[in-house]
Amino acid sequence: MGLYLFFIFAILTLLFAITIYITGKNKREDTYTDLETEEWYCPECGFHVQAGDKCIYCDTSKP
Ligand SMILES: [Zn+2]
Repeated sequence: MGLYLFFIFAILTLLFAITIYITGKNKREDTYTDLETEEWYCPECGFHVQAGDKCIYCDTSKP
């Protein structure tokens, strides 16, 4: 019986953690939408640009 209760508690904790994670992720994406910090890959050299709209290696603008 004790193990059964522990199992339910573990699942509830996991669901709670997932909810917090998803909520925080959505909030972060909303904030970034305004700040123009979306990550993208440069089509010319393949560099992973993490901020800005220009590749720092070959000066290619964001597609
Ligand atoms: Zn580039």
